[in-house]
Amino acid sequence: MCGVFGVVMPRGAGSVASGDQSAAALASLGLFALQHRGQESAGVAVSDGEQLMLYKDLGMIASVLDERRLPSLRGELAIAHCRYSTTGSTVWENAQPTFRLGPRRALAIGHNGNLVNTRELLGQLAGGRGRLPASTDTELLTALLADEPAADTVDALIRVLPRVRGAYSLVILDERRVIGVRDPHGFRPLVLGRLPVASSADGAVAPGLWGDSDDEAPGSGWVLSSETTGLDIVGAEFVRDVEPGEIVVLEAGRPPRSVRFAPATPALCVFELIYFARPDSYLEGRNLYEARRRMGEELAGEHPAETDLVMPVPDTGAPAAAGYAEASGIPYREGLVRNRYTGRTFIQPSQTMRHRGVTLKLNPLREVVRGKRLTVVDDSIVRGTTTKQIVALLRRAGAAEVHVRISAPPIYHPCFYGIDTQVETELIAATQSIDEIRDFVGADSLGYLSIRGVLAALDLPYDRFCFACFDGNYPEPVPYDTASRKFLLEEEGMLAGRG
Ligand code: SF4
Repeated sequence: MCGVFGVVMPRGAGSVASGDQSAAALASLGLFALQHRGQESAGVAVSDGEQLMLYKDLGMIASVLDERRLPSLRGELAIAHCRYSTTGSTVWENAQPTFRLGPRRALAIGHNGNLVNTRELLGQLAGGRGRLPASTDTELLTALLADEPAADTVDALIRVLPRVRGAYSLVILDERRVIGVRDPHGFRPLVLGRLPVASSADGAVAPGLWGDSDDEAPGSGWVLSSETTGLDIVGAEFVRDVEPGEIVVLEAGRPPRSVRFAPATPALCVFELIYFARPDSYLEGRNLYEARRRMGEELAGEHPAETDLVMPVPDTGAPAAAGYAEASGIPYREGLVRNRYTGRTFIQPSQTMRHRGVTLKLNPLREVVRGKRLTVVDDSIVRGTTTKQIVALLRRAGAAEVHVRISAPPIYHPCFYGIDTQVETELIAATQSIDEIRDFVGADSLGYLSIRGVLAALDLPYDRFCFACFDGNYPEPVPYDTASRKFLLEEEGMLAGRG
């Protein structure tokens, strides 16, 4: 996962390029809407047109990018990043944005995704196995781009990106521009938005001042965000998706410039629509709350259950549970209360934290569940441990029966494109039958939505998406060797001072 955000301030706002209206402040605000995509670290990089400055640290966005630090980060251009690790450990060096001062340019990069030919790229780094200051694929990509002799950053991208394979939605900052890039498959989302011209005397950005025909609005600012929720929070208007295989160049006071570096072969991660992205986001023209509600309807048709109540696993199971309840006619009731301050279980980096996370974050409503037959709707089973604990919680609270329904197909295969499920043996469906999983989690019955059901709910064709973790059909071949291992660069001894 990871969340990325970029901003070019509207004309007129530059005079107040510090404080609440600075690019750093706006980028941090945008990042708040993407916190669910990564909770391990956060950072922001800014440019004042001449030099880049960067601040990053381990922790949640609110603790890293607090208002005391932002005023010193001056400039009209900024990118920001929150991290969920898929390559490299959770250490300060691996927080993003990355930064590198090369012979032709200074660059900062925020990356959502995961490269699959890291070992091959390592061999292309100047100086052979030259040392990197961190152990992420993003650090390697930053080094390749910063060292590329092409005079212009966009030319460097055009030369380097065709050698890069895997998933990458990037926000890139050089001295004069913010640049958005999406890999040719578009595994991870990235959207372009427009900020209105700053109009008030103090240069404050006033949302909602769009004219009817301001496509060429000369003073508009521009925003890149992993999800449309990032646009909403800063008052930006959705313009369009960054296309797979496209580079979008954003400069102050100019319309965006589009450069294609590869033909598009779309394969958006379908899990973004099922689970990862926020329900108030839009992807492929679909509102994700509504898409997930429809998945619940399909699930009710495929796997009916005779129960007294339909109950979501909060919060992400709620839209599908609502759809299941509507389609089945069984009353919907919330029976698990979530502590909102413990983070998302799945994206905590270690098994120990995941295990603690479940018991810390969910508490059953005994009055609701006692003596009832329950249909419990969740959006995925990865390792099975979370579901097992939820079923046990409900039984201890007096549930008569617990029937688990999942609004996604079973995850049989690892993901190499930005989700931390790279070890097949960690996936319960890869090693156990559906009946065995049912027994492991302790449910009375278990049903998963089919791929056909997901597509029916989305009303979109199969070939728009990556379904690889469900059907093994990988859009981008993954080298059989160790090239995509999470700790590859650390195992190669590339982490300065740690090797
Ligand atoms: S393998 Fe699964 S999680 Fe990974 S990009 Fe494809 S659909 Fe998404």
